[in-house]
Amino acid sequence: MYYKEIAGVKVSALGMGNMRLPTTDGKEENIDREKAREIIDYAMSHGITYYDTAYRYHGGQSELFIGEALSNYPRDSFCLASKFPGHMMEHKGGGVMGFTSALAGRPDTTVDALFRDQLSRCRVDYFDFYLLHNVCENSLPLYTDPEVGVIDYVREQKRLGKIRHLGFSSHAVEAATIDDFLTRYEGVFDFVQIQLNYLDWILQDAKAKVEVIRKHGLKIVVMEGVRGGRLANLPDEQAARLQTARGGDSPARWALRWLQAIPEVAVVLSGMTTLDQIVENVETFAEPDPANEDEQALLAEIADSMLDLVPCTACRYCTEGCPMQLEIPKIIAAHNSLKNGDFMAYYDMDADPAMDPRRCVGCGACAAICPQHIDIPDIMNRVAERLSQPMFPR
Ligand code: SF4
Ligand code: SF4
Repeated sequence: MYYKEIAGVKVSALGMGNMRLPTTDGKEENIDREKAREIIDYAMSHGITYYDTAYRYHGGQSELFIGEALSNYPRDSFCLASKFPGHMMEHKGGGVMGFTSALAGRPDTTVDALFRDQLSRCRVDYFDFYLLHNVCENSLPLYTDPEVGVIDYVREQKRLGKIRHLGFSSHAVEAATIDDFLTRYEGVFDFVQIQLNYLDWILQDAKAKVEVIRKHGLKIVVMEGVRGGRLANLPDEQAARLQTARGGDSPARWALRWLQAIPEVAVVLSGMTTLDQIVENVETFAEPDPANEDEQALLAEIADSMLDLVPCTACRYCTEGCPMQLEIPKIIAAHNSLKNGDFMAYYDMDADPAMDPRRCVGCGACAAICPQHIDIPDIMNRVAERLSQPMFPR
């Protein structure tokens, strides 16, 4: 494992994301603790020191799990990062906030109560890294409202030593949103976590976001480096091109080596679900091996061929609030597969009500929370229409 630095703290170049841990039955809240513990133990014994979680991951179970799993290790042997869930709260004005439907029923809605709860769930006295979750165009009113006081609160916790380093994650549409926020709070943050990979370099203007972060002299923590697995499972034709160029390397390794070429990138998070994935990723980060210019050009061509896909990362933020319990990311994956000429996934839609987009009532709760800004009701409509076409192969 090689290491980099954020604000003088040594961090492993590969970080363990805790949003896609193995589950017992496919439901995100049911973490398969035995398998997940194996992954964490492998990470700890192979030099991974950066562990990322958030209040809402795995329906609230991720913080509880990682707190328990890391409690067996000395506190100074790992860095723990978690996030304040302001992006999933309603800003009601006048300093008042409440949970959105996706978090309905959670008891604490004050900044202080939430933060203390997070420390307790993670079984730690302090967070090495603490982030505001998804600072974007929608969440700015809450994060910047002095009466809610999120920024003042986290700065005070940093002064008290409960937070060692501050950052924020962002799925902002515009790079300017990140720039404005950093300018407004110059000197407050040590790093920014963004969605960065060779497809989003173009698709979500990640190039401009990296330039903004560079301008402010900060480090980057990468999320969605393989785009929720999308870049690990390329269409056959594109995977073959990579094999020809550098045989033996998987598409996932190509995507991760592309990230190693960006100097500001300190940690690349990977939400590793299986032991095989972590074994391969640890090998990829044994030492720096950044993609060269020719390899970057090849990946840019492959990205070009994928620009018309719906950019879902399977984060599942949308599923918690869907009144019809639709498996939205799986339906979108089926839709994307069809674009690649694979219609097999469409067959599930008749058999499983959760896979049937014709049940969508168009309430829009999903689109309001999607960090990729996908017009999900529109996609549901389009897939439903396609299902009803008589020429559809059945
Ligand atoms: S718009 Fe459709 S898919 Fe989205 S939350 Fe409502 S019912 Fe579910
Ligand atoms: S549609 Fe949006 S919120 Fe839902 S899983 Fe995909 S990226 Fe996440």
